[in-house]
Amino acid sequence: MKRFLATFLLLVAPALAQADPPPAGELFGAMSLPAPGAPQVFGSYAKGCLAGAVTLPADGDGYQAMRLSRNRTWGHPDLVAFIERLAQEGRADGWPGLLVGDMAQPRGGPMRSGHASHQLGLDVDLWLTPMPGQQLSPDDREELSAVSMLKPGTRELDPARFGMRQLAIIRRAALQPEVERIFVHPAIKGAMCEMAGTDRGWLRKVRPWFGHDAHFHVRLRCPAGQPDCRPQEPPPEGDGCGADLAWWFSEEPWQAPAVPEPPPKPLVLSDLPTQCTAVLSAP
Ligand SMILES: [Zn+2]
Repeated sequence: MKRFLATFLLLVAPALAQADPPPAGELFGAMSLPAPGAPQVFGSYAKGCLAGAVTLPADGDGYQAMRLSRNRTWGHPDLVAFIERLAQEGRADGWPGLLVGDMAQPRGGPMRSGHASHQLGLDVDLWLTPMPGQQLSPDDREELSAVSMLKPGTRELDPARFGMRQLAIIRRAALQPEVERIFVHPAIKGAMCEMAGTDRGWLRKVRPWFGHDAHFHVRLRCPAGQPDCRPQEPPPEGDGCGADLAWWFSEEPWQAPAVPEPPPKPLVLSDLPTQCTAVLSAP
């Protein structure tokens, strides 16, 4: 018995103590309701959480929310207000309505799948497919696909899909003072650089990134009165149509690394601000 105990203490106990903590995405992904209280944002866009989130109703004036089964239509009240306003005001640009993709989980945080960011309730994916005239059924909202704006199998924009209407709704979003950045596929940024004419100030916020060929991703800045929200560096000066964008049209960004990189380790609770532990365990 003594020997068994010694073996246990030597071998098994340390292994138990070092057992990997569960991925934070599993913990936050299991939450179906927000943490109560006033809206509070903790951390940064790709490492954080929020309390007091509100939900975007599935239907509203000028928008319909998609993929309702994911339960990712939560956010800071500023995000919900932004989407509702953009949906209504976008009609002035001839945009028939927004199809709203992922926002955040009820308590924000990392997700089981899909995004590195969207953790603070300040990010939203908006489809580049115009909203159809009819109300979509719950099944439609699961099954309809967001249409890529690229020519199939290329990194080139399809001008038959991406036109002035898409430009106008992205421009309108970029002009909102609470918007910090918008991510689009480099081919979309390139087209907008050409289409924008002399009105270019808003292009600064529109940043090229991988993916984002079927939707644009709007990120709001840290709302006022949120001292625990970690802001991002502002985008570089200028319209972003020069050398940085040209790099995206070289082969370099698209090449697989010579030595394959190991997949990133999933975030665990201790990677997030300490307040996120309380957000997660709130009733
Ligand atoms: Zn996104």
